[in-house]
Amino acid sequence: MTKPRGYDAIVIGLGAMGSATLFHLARRGLRVLGLEQFSQGHELGSSHGDSRIIRETYFEHPLYVPLVRRAHELWRELEQASGKSLMKITGGLMIGPADGMVVAGTLRSATEHQLPHEVLTPAQVHERFPAFELAPNLVAVLDPRAGYLDPEACNRAHIDAARAAGATALFNEPVLDWNADGDGVQVRTQGGTYTADRLVLAAGAWNTGLAHDLKLPLMIERQSVFWLNPSAGRELYEADRFPIYAYEYKAGHICYGFPRLTRGVKASVMHSGEIAPDPDSVERGVNDDEVKPLRAALRPVLPTLADAPVRDRATCLFTNTPNHDFIIDFHPLHPQVLISSPCSGHGFKFASAIGELQAELLMTGKSRFDLSPFRIGRWPADSGRVSGPSSRS
Ligand SMILES: Cc1cc2nc3c(=O)[nH]c(=O)nc-3n(C[C@H](O)[C@H](O)[C@H](O)COP(=O)(O)OP(=O)(O)OC[C@H]3O[C@@H](n4cnc5c(N)ncnc54)[C@H](O)[C@@H]3O)c2cc1C
Repeated sequence: MTKPRGYDAIVIGLGAMGSATLFHLARRGLRVLGLEQFSQGHELGSSHGDSRIIRETYFEHPLYVPLVRRAHELWRELEQASGKSLMKITGGLMIGPADGMVVAGTLRSATEHQLPHEVLTPAQVHERFPAFELAPNLVAVLDPRAGYLDPEACNRAHIDAARAAGATALFNEPVLDWNADGDGVQVRTQGGTYTADRLVLAAGAWNTGLAHDLKLPLMIERQSVFWLNPSAGRELYEADRFPIYAYEYKAGHICYGFPRLTRGVKASVMHSGEIAPDPDSVERGVNDDEVKPLRAALRPVLPTLADAPVRDRATCLFTNTPNHDFIIDFHPLHPQVLISSPCSGHGFKFASAIGELQAELLMTGKSRFDLSPFRIGRWPADSGRVSGPSSRS
């Protein structure tokens, strides 16, 4: 008779995807262990910085719409269960030239999934949201169900709920390595060796190093974000008059931002950072000049914000796949190991639904969602999907 393993499943990495997966596994009655190398709420991965956009009329591809709708429901459930505020709906402006990737892609998703939306002229945008002054060649599509999530609060709520359902979550416990143990796994940390029937690699930017000899086509990209502090018209940036937005400032390139939160009015240019060989070698400081491309990008839509002083800044990591669709698949050599790499700069909003679908995958081998676009080994990039260098947020 074989010795029972310590856990039904181990999750490596307790950022957005790991904490959600831990919760959904524990909720289904599995004995689960989550291992995180850093402290809770750390700022070295991809899930920090006070806000993440959630939007439904997904301009990248309509395939993401069912996933974001399920995520929306699950964020609300988690909010109710935790008693914490996690998601604020502000509406979202998807701005660009009428024939550009953002506007055309938004309308495609809205039409295919019959989602509520409004097409607004620059004058209509200004009337509704006075901080915005769009150049005359631009239009905006308003997604009324868009808004933002508080990433630190979301992760904490998932961990708390997982623990309440019986999970063990250990922080400051880096995984040194893992190996297959028959049809299960052994996972080694400085604190000891743990065994389980299943393993989830949810290590974000560190997944490449943990995937052993599997060469995942992931690129680590440094992102800088800024919190600006417009002094005039401060009330125009409050969440009731200032929605989240994504603006295609150049074909295939976007900048995006949020209303005023505690740290200021956050904005960033997508995919504008250097590629790093590994997450530990990324430059974490942000120099003053780095705000210049953001100011230039914002000027045709938010001229006052574009010139506002910087109040705060941070770096964060994108883990990009070649076509910016996620990787969610079993390790080809070890079917007991699930690789979870939904970043490419746009994963957070889906984390609640991805946690649920990964728990279902691990338990049944199946998902209610079509995961074929997220398979390992699908490259070269499939056609028909927007996959410009800057197409996600
Ligand atoms: C600047 C920025 C803005 C973004 N904006 C948006 C947005 O507006 N909307 C949106 O939907 N998405 C957005 N994203 C993307 C989103 O934040 C990511 O998709 C998501 O946070 C990725 O979560 P993760 O769990 O994969 O990675 P992480 O949250 O980084 O979690 C991985 C965890 O694994 C841990 N780990 C790694 N190695 C080990 C080890 N050996 N042992 C133990 N633990 C380990 C790490 O410490 C880390 O905590 C943005 C990302 C960035 C960087």
